[in-house]
Amino acid sequence: EKVKNSVQELMELDKKYFLHPTSPIKQQQDQGPSFIFTEGKGVMLTDILGNTVIDGMSSLWNVNVGHGREELGKVAMEQMSKLAFSSCFATYSNEPAIRLAAKLAEIAPGNLNATFFTSGGSEANDTAYKLARHYWILKGQPNRKKIISRTKSYHGVAMGSTNATGLKPFREFTNAFDPDFCYADHFSSEDLRRVIEAEGPETIAAFIAEPVQGAGGLHVAPDDYFKEVKSICNEYGILLITDEVITGFGRTGKYFGIEHYGVVPDMMCFAKGITSGYAQLGGVMLSETIHQDYMELSTGTLLHGYTYSGHPMACAVALKNIELIEEEGLIANAEKMGAEMHKGFQWIEGERKIIGKVKGLGLMGGLELVKDRNTNEKFQNPVAPLVVTEAAKRGLICRSVVFDGQDTVVFAPPLIISKEEMAKMIDILHDAIAAVE
Ligand code: PLP
Repeated sequence: EKVKNSVQELMELDKKYFLHPTSPIKQQQDQGPSFIFTEGKGVMLTDILGNTVIDGMSSLWNVNVGHGREELGKVAMEQMSKLAFSSCFATYSNEPAIRLAAKLAEIAPGNLNATFFTSGGSEANDTAYKLARHYWILKGQPNRKKIISRTKSYHGVAMGSTNATGLKPFREFTNAFDPDFCYADHFSSEDLRRVIEAEGPETIAAFIAEPVQGAGGLHVAPDDYFKEVKSICNEYGILLITDEVITGFGRTGKYFGIEHYGVVPDMMCFAKGITSGYAQLGGVMLSETIHQDYMELSTGTLLHGYTYSGHPMACAVALKNIELIEEEGLIANAEKMGAEMHKGFQWIEGERKIIGKVKGLGLMGGLELVKDRNTNEKFQNPVAPLVVTEAAKRGLICRSVVFDGQDTVVFAPPLIISKEEMAKMIDILHDAIAAVE
């Protein structure tokens, strides 16, 4: 009775005082939260009523090492007790930030070697655009201001990253149509060339892309795509930025998603998995070449920095998180369990009629739903949200994507997932789809 009362109270307080991020406003107002989570352990989350669910999304694609890792709590407590915060502006520094930057240089692809820290992915992307534009000022080409991204991309919600997000509803939300941002077809490197030519190559600062596109519907680029993109960028002298906010830190079965494509970008953005969500941290890595140019050409001050750039506690947590990923072989496990997930999806495809396409890389996966798979006819109203609801009732959290007429369910379970847990996830998913069919 007491628990029920407190749940009721929290529901009312939530509805009255808490404006939720990226949420259906009316539904949130009418119904309140569907889960009030209180605990997490491994791949499982428990809510205030004692319901347990498999976190098939690693929450927001980020809890790579799983929930309830006391090692990370301990490191956070120790660092906070010793030095919770100090500034990294000007000439101040701290040991966790220094050691993390050095570690990132060791694990990042190719000659990516210098890191600028932020608090998350949106800030990381905005930082990359600003650093790219400033780079061209330093190089005597100030007209290179435009950023090209892809049509189905998601790069975050700061003003720059909103404008770079190809998914229109995010831009329409605030009328974000800055002409310095333009969009190339999601899968076509030749369309990138078309946009560059149409806009004028001398006006383009950079092209940004997610190695595997997540929030926009789980799109895996064709095998040669990034090699072709890199060569087009080289041809026109345009910087290539990869957004590894989801794909970094083992998610795809390699340390960074771009490693699948054998390309090294000029800048690489990261966030999420660097701390597995245990602390707020993101950043941008610069190639040795860009970094050297900065060092040689800059005469003034780097006028871009967040209060929490290089936050000691967040950096200490990141270092420990990376240690866990390495010691527990979680990147290899992502590859292995990714294959298992794909096998499970294919089994479901054989059993159920409404699977149009199975897609994914490592522990990022998606199922496209169709009314008729012979003709690829879509449902008039997307059914992916219904699958998500049915899955939640049965104890699995996943996510639907319905932008641009898509009807897709996406998955990104924690990298620590076991074969048994994967089998359970697949079983629940099958039953949820059957219930909707
Ligand atoms: N970039 C990508 C590819 C993302 O998926 C996200 C968030 O989902 C972001 C950037 C934004 O990161 P954040 O929410 O930490 O600002």
